Amino acid sequence: MPVNNIVPVLQSADSLISRIPGVIFQFYRTHCGRMHFPYLEGGGEALVHIDRQQLAHDAGQLIEHLTGCDYPKIMSSIERSARWMLPLTTRFRLPFPKGNPHWIAVSANPSPLPNGVRWDGIMMDISDQVAEEERLRKLSNTDPLTGLPNRRKLMMHLTHLTSLSTRHGTPLSIMMVDIDHFKQLNDRWGHLQGDSVLEQLAVHTQKLLRCEDMVARLGGEEFMVVLPLTPLQQCHKLADRLRHAIANYDFGIGTGNVTISIGIAEFRCGEPLVSLIKRADQALYGAKEIGRDCVCHLP
Ligand code: GH3
Ligand code: MG
Ligand code: MG
Repeated sequence: MPVNNIVPVLQSADSLISRIPGVIFQFYRTHCGRMHFPYLEGGGEALVHIDRQQLAHDAGQLIEHLTGCDYPKIMSSIERSARWMLPLTTRFRLPFPKGNPHWIAVSANPSPLPNGVRWDGIMMDISDQVAEEERLRKLSNTDPLTGLPNRRKLMMHLTHLTSLSTRHGTPLSIMMVDIDHFKQLNDRWGHLQGDSVLEQLAVHTQKLLRCEDMVARLGGEEFMVVLPLTPLQQCHKLADRLRHAIANYDFGIGTGNVTISIGIAEFRCGEPLVSLIKRADQALYGAKEIGRDCVCHLP
């Protein structure tokens, strides 16, 4: 029995297409670059604000206007798909007159024609999915207690910065920060008070830094501060300021009961990231050895 016979509610393909939450299209691009949509139908909000007549006639300008800063990405996806006859799979932000742009996913198969390429495909509004991806990405990069970037995020950031530093020869320094005798602090004032110290320390440290600097929680009571475009001498001054500010701040348990030790190191052009971190770590170890509440670096 034909499928249509058991679904009497749907009278025709047209009525089906107008109900689906997306767009079905044919997109044609000639070898000399002229683009248009011979077919573009569907439901959903995405089509409401779009001039379909213009898309059917000459889509070039409107595509540029509608895809904004995603235009180069879209055009290179189209180019790649046309050149290798691979499926076109991409996403772009479609501006909406009110509110945030909507994320639209495009999926289409190319077919070669004598004067160009035709794609048959669909577009779907995936704004909810993209928002969820963003939420999960943030979650996987964030320390839940302090809200600071976690070790994972820090390592990605540092990898990026060290490669920039190597390429441009610009300075980059880091601080390895560790709270002194934190175990005793927990034992004396309780774990919840310990947590509160970690949270306040995160806020306080961020306030002392520039917006391009990053403070991340490595784990436990250890933090790292990353200072782009900063040589060791300047990093030392900032570390001293931070150490002093923490020692003189009342975390709710009386001034002077929280101190930090800091090991600092400057990136040496081309060195592996692990060796930069190791030097800062050894410097921190040195700071602990000479009595804590101080800043150290290796000679
Ligand atoms: P040092 O001056 O040598 O660094 O001594 P320390 O006591 O700070 O170092 P140690 O490594 O001996 O102890 C770290 C303590 O940090 C032990 C652990 O219970 C505590 N800690 C780790 N993570 C957390 C946390 O999330 N919250 C709280 N309250 N305590 C934590
Ligand atoms: Mg400690
Ligand atoms: Mg520690």
